[in-house]
Amino acid sequence: MTVRIGVLNGDGIGPEIVPVAVAVADAAAAHEGFEFDWLSLPLGRGAIESHGTPIPQQTLEALDALDIWVLGPHDSAGYPERFAGDLTPGAVIRKRYGLYANLRPCRGLPGVGALAPEIDVVIARENSEGLYADRNMAVGSGEFMPTPDIALAVGVITRAATERIARQACELATERSGRLTIVHKANVLTMTTGLFRDVCREVAAGYPDLTVTDAHVDAMAALLVRRPGDFDVIVTENLFGDILSDLAGELAGSLGMAGSINCSDTVVMAQASHGAAPDIAGRGVANPIAIISSTSKALRWYGRRTTDERLTRAADAIDAAVTAALADGALTPDLGGSATTVQVGERVIAHLDGQIGSAG
Ligand code: ATP
Repeated sequence: MTVRIGVLNGDGIGPEIVPVAVAVADAAAAHEGFEFDWLSLPLGRGAIESHGTPIPQQTLEALDALDIWVLGPHDSAGYPERFAGDLTPGAVIRKRYGLYANLRPCRGLPGVGALAPEIDVVIARENSEGLYADRNMAVGSGEFMPTPDIALAVGVITRAATERIARQACELATERSGRLTIVHKANVLTMTTGLFRDVCREVAAGYPDLTVTDAHVDAMAALLVRRPGDFDVIVTENLFGDILSDLAGELAGSLGMAGSINCSDTVVMAQASHGAAPDIAGRGVANPIAIISSTSKALRWYGRRTTDERLTRAADAIDAAVTAALADGALTPDLGGSATTVQVGERVIAHLDGQIGSAG
């Protein structure tokens, strides 16, 4: 059975890093004796030039027919004024397909000079509501300005959305070390994040083998720095999850290594935790590891859902090759090295192909 994957390069460093992830996935598939069927789709700045809109309807309709999507980062703040206030391309896709869970693993790998080499956490970020007002409303935005000098934002927490992310987090924690931390700010945002905390606790009570703790988001930021090895799965609302995952990504080495997936119960999209990094775009030095790892996580997720073990093996091979390439010095400047984006990809592929040592 052919696996059809949509490729959306994105903006900024996206067109530099996404093709590297595609090449690595192709090499992993060849390693397992199969091929992917890739379909490149316009989205973002390129789509404004070709279709007059960052989110062409044809792209969304094409996604319906694909199995997995790899989404590059978008720099929607840099789009022409007429698109100001619109949902970002990523948000449109997440909303259209109900990708309610954003799972962001951060693990210190050998050779990258991680600030916290012992860190090994997964942040299960609720992805459909919370304090991110842009995705809270059926119509319009939850952020608005009654006068030019007054700005308001609406935070939304619902039992239904909290239950489903809590279940994902509990399942993940059960598969990992059995430790779950619920992150909220219930001493200040008592009703909204208090509801989030309480519903997470209720769901977790159905998993008696888990050790469940909770923390305020500000304390959690400090604890992640002070005792990074003490945490495993962290479940939290949207904005808190975005911030904590950047922190955890840097503690593990660099934001440029932080892979992630967005998923519902039936659909998965690979998307790195980082943004379009306009400050380094066009220089060929962006770290491709985050999008490579995101792609491998999406392959593993889809392989598990479809019981296609070729995908699980391909994902394992990619992860092993990434670890090996980093350990033998394939480091971009964010990790203190001087390798280019393409060189890192080539080194990962060389490990996959068995040209250097063993890919494991
Ligand atoms: P967004 O809100 O879209 O996630 P952001 O404002 O968090 O974006 P990023 O684009 O993620 O910002 O960039 C934050 C910093 O991390 C920048 O200095 C950027 O150069 C760096 N960075 C992000 N991704 C990478 C990468 N893949 N390789 C190297 N550096 C990166």
